[in-house]
Parts: sequence; C-alpha cells; structure tokens
Amino acid sequence: MSKDNHRTIIVGGGMSGITAAVYLARAGHDVLLLEKNKECGGLLNSFQREGFTFDAGARSILNAGIIHPMLRELDIELEFLESPVSIGIENDIINLTPENAVDEYRKLLERLYPESAEDIKVVISKIESIMKDMQTMYKIDNPNFREQKDGAYLKQLLGWLPGFIRVLGRMGKQSEPVESYLAKLTSNQSLIDIIAQHFFKKTPTSFALGYFYSYTDYIYPRGGTGELPKALVQKIIEFGGKIQTETEITGVNPSEKEVRDKNGNTYSYDTLIWSADLKTLYRILELNNFEEKDSQEILEQKELLLSKRGCDSVYSLFVGVDAPLEEFSSKSNGHFFYTPSKQGLGETHWSELDSLIENFETKSKDDILQWLDKYCQLTTYEISIPAFRDPTLAPNGKTGVEISMLFEYDLLKKVKDANWYEEFQSEVENRMLDVLSNSIYPSLRDKVLFQSSSTPLSIAKIVGTSEGAIVGWSYLSPVPVVDNLRKIPSSVLTPIPNVYQTGQWAYSPAGLPTAIITGWNAAQKIIKKKK
Ligand SMILES: Cc1cc2nc3c(=O)[nH]c(=O)nc-3n(C[C@H](O)[C@H](O)[C@H](O)COP(=O)(O)OP(=O)(O)OC[C@H]3O[C@@H](n4cnc5c(N)ncnc54)[C@H](O)[C@@H]3O)c2cc1C
Repeated sequence: MSKDNHRTIIVGGGMSGITAAVYLARAGHDVLLLEKNKECGGLLNSFQREGFTFDAGARSILNAGIIHPMLRELDIELEFLESPVSIGIENDIINLTPENAVDEYRKLLERLYPESAEDIKVVISKIESIMKDMQTMYKIDNPNFREQKDGAYLKQLLGWLPGFIRVLGRMGKQSEPVESYLAKLTSNQSLIDIIAQHFFKKTPTSFALGYFYSYTDYIYPRGGTGELPKALVQKIIEFGGKIQTETEITGVNPSEKEVRDKNGNTYSYDTLIWSADLKTLYRILELNNFEEKDSQEILEQKELLLSKRGCDSVYSLFVGVDAPLEEFSSKSNGHFFYTPSKQGLGETHWSELDSLIENFETKSKDDILQWLDKYCQLTTYEISIPAFRDPTLAPNGKTGVEISMLFEYDLLKKVKDANWYEEFQSEVENRMLDVLSNSIYPSLRDKVLFQSSSTPLSIAKIVGTSEGAIVGWSYLSPVPVVDNLRKIPSSVLTPIPNVYQTGQWAYSPAGLPTAIITGWNAAQKIIKKKK
C-alpha cells in the first residue's frame, strides 16, 4: 500500500476527465488522473477484433464548434473524416446533407404518412426553427476553446453573441418532453413514435429535435472514435500530467482530502475532480470527521441523487461480415438510423415494458421473448460502419457493422437475476440479425463471420455507470443537476469541499459536447483559483 500526494486528482478518464486533465496539465498543474480500466476513453473508445475496428461508444463525434478549435489550441493533429448520416424507415432511405436534411426528412415522412401531410409540415417547421438555433449556436468556434482570438475572429464573435444569447433563452423554454410536444402537433401516434423513438424517453424537445442539426455536424477520426481520447491522453503526458489506469477509486475522504483505491492505496489531493458516476461518489463518500452542520447539504444532495436513475441504456451488436463494403454502401451512409417498421413502438416500450418488469416473476420466458420480438421489429437501430469512413478499419472485402438499439437496464437485470442472461443475450442478438436480414440487409444472416454484444449491464460494469446510462440522468423525472446552458459553468460545483464534478452526470441533457465543456469549466475554475 502506498500514499501519493497530488495537487489535483481526477477520477475517471472519460472525455470529461481527460479534458480537465489536459487543460490543467497545460497550465502547469500537478495532475494525476485515475482510471479504473486499462485504457481511458470511457464511453468513447474503439476496439479491434480479427482485423476489424469497432467503436464501442459514440459512433461519431459531434464537432459542436468545440472539437476542431480545441485540438488546434492544444496542438493536436488528428485527421477527421466526414461522417454523413442516413435515415431509413422500411424501404425508404434518405441521405442527409446540411442543405437538404430537413426537406428530405419531410418528404420521407409525407411518403410514409400521407394522411398526416399537414401535421408533418407543422412538425418540420418546428424542426427547422430548432435547427436554425443549433446553427447559430455552433456556427463559429466556441470562444472557450479558441484562445487565439485574432481580429477576424473577434469580429465574428461580436456578430454572433447577440443571436447566441437569444438562442440560449429560447432553448431554456423548450424543455417539454418531445413525445408530449409532438402530441400537440399531431394525433398520428405512429408519426409521433417514429420521430421520438430516435431519442431517449422524454428527451427535452429542443435537444431531441436539435439532433437533425447534429446529424449534419458529425465527424469521424481516422482510425476510429477512440483516437480522440488517445490523442488527448498523449497530450496530457506531454504536458507533464500523470495517468494511472487500472485504478478503481472505492473511497473518498474529503476531510482528509484523500481518495483510496480498491487495493487500499491512498492518494492525497488539494482539489478533486470527480469525472465518473455521481451516485458512486456519494455512495463511497466518508463523512465521519465532518461536523453535522457541514455535512447536512452533502447528505441532502446524496439523498436526492440516489433517488434518481440513469438515462436509457443501449444494446449493441458488433458483427464481422463476409461481404464487401459496397453491399452496405449501396443502401446508406456509414452512420444510419434505421426503423424497419413505420408502425412505431407505441406502448411496447412504455406500459408493456413497465408491466413486464413489474410483474417479471409471474411472466414466463415466452412472455418475455414475445415482447422482445415486437420490440426488435418496431424499434429504431443506430447502424454504424466504421470502414465507410476509413476503409482500413476492416479487412479487404469484409465489413464490420455495429448495430445498436436503446434498451432497458432493469429488464436485463431481472433476466440476469433469473439466471438466463447469456441465453437472453443470444435471443436478442438473433432477433436483431433476423430483423435486419428480413428488411434492409437480406444476406446479412448468412455472412456473419463473428458477433459479440455489449449490454446495459456490461456498460454499467465496465464504465461504472448507473443503470448503464450513456448520457447521464433519466428525463423521466426532473434531473438533479443544472439543466440550463446559461448555468453550465456552475454545473461543476458540488457541496463537498474542494470537490468538482464533470461529465455526463454533471449537466443535463448530456453527451460528448457537454462532457468536454464541463471538463474544461472545472479546469478553468481550478486554474483561476490558483492564480
Ligand atoms: C453507443 C453510444 C452512442 C453514443 N452516441 C452519442 C452521440 O451521438 N452524441 C453524444 O453527444 N454522445 C453520445 N454518447 C454519449 C457519450 O459518449 C458520453 O455521454 C460521454 O462520452 C461521457 O463522457 P464522460 O467523461 O462524462 O463519462 P464516461 O465516458 O462514462 O467516463 C467515466 C470514466 O470513469 C471511469 N470510472 C468509473 N468509475 C470509476 C472509479 N470508481 N474509479 C476510477 N475510474 C472510474 C470509467 O471507467 C470511465 O472511463 C454515446 C454513447 C454510447 C455508449
């Protein structure tokens, strides 16, 4: 057992922790980043199997006016490739470009639901106005990530600022869940579902419909999405920061200013940045030496956080296919949202799923598999093919395909407790392959070289994220953190002395851009404090 002294300790080497570390290390701070896994990256990483590269986390990276300027400022050279998106419903597939995205989507919906053409126009005009706001937000390099502000940029910034402030105001007012918002515009439930089921349950409207802008702003690092955290990690080391992997923190003692890993080693800090699951932080917090009055606020925060749940999780299938890229590129772009049926999920993922989970013990395997059949036929798949962007990511003549769908952690947990997790996994994998072979990829089933999957339970275990969540807190009840872009700088504050929080649990709605922004904000607060 050892004891180590560090000025700033960062727990969690996902994108938010890495971002905080790189800025602190660049400012000359003594930084130690502790990560439980062998590699940093968290929910942004790539892995290799049999000559194929797969992205296990986010399938593409939203530039959001952040990635390019950040890498430029940090002097990181990373080549990005285009990552255009397609949307498909049944046999109708559209390829999105920044110029045509909304118009093509409108035409697609009108072809599928001609009876709702008028409602579709109203929905589309809403998407258009949110897209305009997103364009305003992201159209220039984010000033936080562009330190070299030359005359031309300053001029651009001054012109942009008033519009940006107006957008912030509008965005804050559009937090109604997307499902109920759409229900005010149309009574066609299939239409509502087909739009809303791309997103997490009850996603705020501005965030959900803003995805139509995001679809046109995705970029892809040559070599896979995992190249981004890798490049940042290298930079942290270059700046003199330290990274210790395979170190899981299991105790935080704020009165001693110490964290402890699972082997009993302790690490002293002046400042701690918690960049991992927030419920874990409060569960392992040791408050024994605290005065009651000092711990009150922390205990209230603990109670609040532990009463909340993580957002939807995802079930992913990674498949090596013995077929050339052309077999897939003739259908869509390499990042593809595909729904095999225009019917929409309806109650399959609401009351039917809730009832299945609640009454799990009284249900037979057949009941559960019947629900699974329906879910797999009606849900929306995010399909990603890394070699579309970078052909070196699959052996010649073969294609690696990533297929994922949103999936409920609690159902899998019950299945696991009932001891048929492995069997259930292969039932899910088979259904995903069958549905796609019976629709968009007729020969997929017969050409599978190998397959493996990641589930909400494996995500929870590997990344240590509550309920396997991939974007922080569930929207099903009010989120327990800052959820207004104007207040994002304060999202990193905690009631625990000398402890900051960053990442998907610090701000909602979450994702890669806000993970990076919160990491940056925590670093700036510490740098300013030292100055
Ligand atoms: C399939 C998929 C698709 C996605 N698509 C998108 C998308 O299109 N757009 C978007 O914006 N976002 C997307 N995301 C979400 C995005 O990737 C994450 O929200 C973001 O990467 C979270 O970064 P983070 O740093 O907050 O947390 P994480 O990535 O969760 O990092 C936390 C880190 O902490 C480590 N850790 C946990 N506990 C401990 C401990 N006790 N001690 C030490 N280390 C610990 C973990 O191992 C992990 O490395 C997607 C995610 C997935 C999985």
